[in-house]
Amino acid sequence: MYCRNCGKEIPNDSRICPFCGKEQNNSVDANYDDSGSVGWAILGFFIPLAGLILFLVWKDSKPNCAKKAGVGALISVLASIIISIVYVICLVGMIGAGSAM
Ligand SMILES: [Zn+2]
Repeated sequence: MYCRNCGKEIPNDSRICPFCGKEQNNSVDANYDDSGSVGWAILGFFIPLAGLILFLVWKDSKPNCAKKAGVGALISVLASIIISIVYVICLVGMIGAGSAM
């Protein structure tokens, strides 16, 4: 194989070019799925615990996927907190209105 950066011939199994030090994207990386699909964010949103686990598992090996799953889980948690706050405010408002009458 040839270096993707400098074009010099390098051993097939080398991950880093011995001439220029550039990391090679070989066939192993072609199967490497770190596209950061929105699907992981949706999964994290509906199952925050799964999103959190995926985030912790992937944060080193698949940073993009980990970020999506983590963001999905975070949005889900924030949304549930906001809904709870709105619910409490409505409840307090209703009690307040009731006692005023
Ligand atoms: Zn090179």
